[in-house]
Amino acid sequence: MVRCPECASPKMKYDARSSRYVCPRCGLALSRGELDRSWDEQRSAYRREDQEDARAQRRRDYLDWWLSSKEKEKPKRKR
Ligand SMILES: [Zn+2]
Repeated sequence: MVRCPECASPKMKYDARSSRYVCPRCGLALSRGELDRSWDEQRSAYRREDQEDARAQRRRDYLDWWLSSKEKEKPKRKR
């Protein structure tokens, strides 16, 4: 089954007359090459988001570590 890159409907049908995949839900019609390309673009967009998430997560981890190491230092100073 071919999934529509526009509305994610998994029911795109191949129309032999226009040699395109047509989505019955949103009416999008794409050739096989256009379909592949649009999915490639979506995939690379997801990858970019993943990388940004990972970077933000690393920063949060670092902040947590920094804050907890500060907290750990405090009791040592008290005598
Ligand atoms: Zn669609």
